[in-house]
Amino acid sequence: VTNSGEYHILMLPFMAHGHLIPFLELANFIHRKSSVFTITIACTPSNIQYLRSAAADSKIRLAELYYSSSDHGLPPNTESTENLPLNQIDTLFHSSTALELPLRELISDLVQKDGSPPLCIISDVFLGWSVAVARSFNIPVFSFTTCGAYGTLAYISLWLNLPHRSSTSDEFSLPGFPENCRFHRSQLHRFLLAADGTDSWSRYFRPQISYSLSSDGWLCNTVEEVESFGLKHLRDYIKLPVWAIGPLLLQTSSGGRRRWGKEKDSGVGLETCMNWLNSHRKNSVLYISFGSQNTITESQMMELAYGLEESGSAFIWVVRPPSGHDMKAEFRAHQWLPEHFEDRMKETNRGLVIRNWAPQLEILAHESVGAFLSHCGWNSTVESLSQGVPVIGWPMAAEQAYNSKMLVEEMGIGVELTRGKESEIKRGRVKEVIEMVMGEGGEGEEMRNKAAIVKDKMRAAVMDEHKGSSNTNLVDFLEFIQAKQKSLNKIK
Ligand code: UDP
Repeated sequence: VTNSGEYHILMLPFMAHGHLIPFLELANFIHRKSSVFTITIACTPSNIQYLRSAAADSKIRLAELYYSSSDHGLPPNTESTENLPLNQIDTLFHSSTALELPLRELISDLVQKDGSPPLCIISDVFLGWSVAVARSFNIPVFSFTTCGAYGTLAYISLWLNLPHRSSTSDEFSLPGFPENCRFHRSQLHRFLLAADGTDSWSRYFRPQISYSLSSDGWLCNTVEEVESFGLKHLRDYIKLPVWAIGPLLLQTSSGGRRRWGKEKDSGVGLETCMNWLNSHRKNSVLYISFGSQNTITESQMMELAYGLEESGSAFIWVVRPPSGHDMKAEFRAHQWLPEHFEDRMKETNRGLVIRNWAPQLEILAHESVGAFLSHCGWNSTVESLSQGVPVIGWPMAAEQAYNSKMLVEEMGIGVELTRGKESEIKRGRVKEVIEMVMGEGGEGEEMRNKAAIVKDKMRAAVMDEHKGSSNTNLVDFLEFIQAKQKSLNKIK
């Protein structure tokens, strides 16, 4: 308890925007639930700067932890996965352990200022080293996974068990999942596929996940009723309490959408998008985006454009320079898209091509949008589900392939177009899948109906103050940490 009678919670997100935002929203959710908590989010300086703009209207405290990327052989001022090529992301992970000392100093400062240590630390599941820090101060510690339960379980189990190493076939079972839930080599991203336990990724992930398994419990950005399968198996596997407190993207203090501050990158504003969508029929537009970090290759882009055109479907497509080109470079439409593609789409009002960044949640919330061609990043997945929009999956990295697998196999609201960054994709397949999902009646309609049910469940979880599962889970969690600290104090 702080000197002012409040309980202090310290949060430690991993350095990636897709992690910072759910942490920020978790902090806001706790504040909305109860006024007795003071929350400090600690991260590296430029991530704190970013949070400062995103959290401008909230009473969350922000603390900078000293970090210099060049100390770790990374380009100067690189503190987020967003600005790094794929082959340096592992270095960013390893470098996070350098935050241990600044974190210890911060906790000591808080103890001095508040007269007691924080009530608990909530740290990113990928920052397992922080569990030992918390233990040394006798502070309860919880791991927060910003991914879904199914995806988290698949990802941690793959890293811990490396089952593909001993499997003689491309398909294998995975500890934590029922035997009949098979995984495939093509669902492993490049570094996982190459992992043998001694490589740089394994050397980071395997111990960090194990440390997180020794925390006091996990929080998961998902919804009990939507991910009952994933949550059951995650709980059975990690043998810790898991509180499902999502979806964390829908909840803002004002009820509106927190902005990323990136809209200026696109040149196409919210109003243009909304007007364009207003001119289209209900469920007739396909939205295409691969998240905040991914792009596709030149040949994939060309095939996607041809397939899209041949399908006849209306679309909004967020394009970036293809892989191998500077993401900030000018988009060379004449070179990377079929000849006069954009002009044709514009003239016929068929498609809106947006550069770099679009107001995604607002687009997904529009009734004209009938499906989302997505890389299945968890935030995108949650946004799509919360708006009742089925997904055409093209998973590329991290745990995306397992999110896609869950959408297809567990929920029946997704079809996988292809997988992997290097996949060979053909226009005929693009056309076929789009027609199937966007078509009236048939499978597409079935998926939309199922997605509508998921949307209602997601909303109820957070909107219903008293009975919504994420609301009651959060209350339960807050009571749990208070009880936990009392018992720790007694032992002292
Ligand atoms: N996003 C957006 N506009 C874009 C691309 C992405 O608003 O043009 C947002 C999207 O709404 C989501 C996040 O960026 O909240 C992407 O997170 P996700 O976990 O889906 O993928 P990642 O970027 O981490 O790969």
